[in-house]
Amino acid sequence: MTEEMNFKILKGKPLADQILMEASHQLEKLKEKDVFPCLTTIEVGSDPASRYYLDNQRRTAERVGIKYESRQLEENISREKMLEVIEEVNQDPGIHGLIINLPLPGHLHASEMQWNIDSAKDVEGVTPQNLGRMVLGAGGLKPCTALAIVELIKSTGVDIKGKEVTVIGRSSIVGKPVSLLLLAENATITICHSFTSKAGLLEAHVRKADILVAAVGVPEFVKGEWIKDNAIVIDAGINSVDGKMLGDVEFEAAAAKASFITPVPGGVGPVTTALLMKNTVDAVYMQLSQI
Ligand code: NDP
Repeated sequence: MTEEMNFKILKGKPLADQILMEASHQLEKLKEKDVFPCLTTIEVGSDPASRYYLDNQRRTAERVGIKYESRQLEENISREKMLEVIEEVNQDPGIHGLIINLPLPGHLHASEMQWNIDSAKDVEGVTPQNLGRMVLGAGGLKPCTALAIVELIKSTGVDIKGKEVTVIGRSSIVGKPVSLLLLAENATITICHSFTSKAGLLEAHVRKADILVAAVGVPEFVKGEWIKDNAIVIDAGINSVDGKMLGDVEFEAAAAKASFITPVPGGVGPVTTALLMKNTVDAVYMQLSQI
């Protein structure tokens, strides 16, 4: 890799470290007031693919001084019992953030479970209350990956206002929220999805993008030659191929054209985890202001 290429690579770690340092300072202030933040994850059954993320969350939480607790539920837990556990956590004043680990077994609906999280403890920003607040530009807790993408773009120093942004993917956790956050930054947003591809229009939307956000979940889906000269490329994709982690963008070819590009792994991922900690701290402050 040439020095010029190295300069373009927008690594997540420096930004993640900065976010975690700020979170640590806020945590110190909370501890002086005898408030000890706790983040809880509910896991149903065991999903080996989640282990890496959960271990990473735990390590990062403990590093900044957030207590991390995991509740393991039986694979065959009933819908009613699971809702009871969520309500128990909602009512527990010692728990400040709640994550429901996905995927859930087929008999449980992820949205129903997530939508029952108290919005003040919804550190992943998945409840209708928090997503609604984001649509209205009215504060609240926002999805961490979408926030991470915006913070990475801002860290380049490039002014987002008036830029042509193409987002590939429209999930409620990445594509839609990041589109709304970048709209709030006064960019012009095009959201692409599977029907954009079926209509044969995807490449054209990528080619015009000053900022490209890929959140598809298909390895090297975006071809490097499609990237506009000097574009910022943010690759949220995490795809495991033959034991190797690949993004949604053809990295080397895209890096040759982009002004900045995030690597996979080591780009969006660490910033997302850091922002989960920041959201937990923000949730504590919100809960204290409600007392
Ligand atoms: P989803 O599967 O929920 O959404 C994928 C989106 O991509 C959908 O909107 C889908 O369109 C679109 N899509 C799929 N195929 C095509 C295609 N051929 N052409 C155009 N659009 C297509 O995934 P997520 O949003 O949850 O995640 C996206 C990626 O980001 C994954 O790789 C995931 O692992 C990663 N991720 C990374 C995180 C991080 O912290 N770095 C956190 C969360 C996710 P349609 O709606 O029409 O089906």
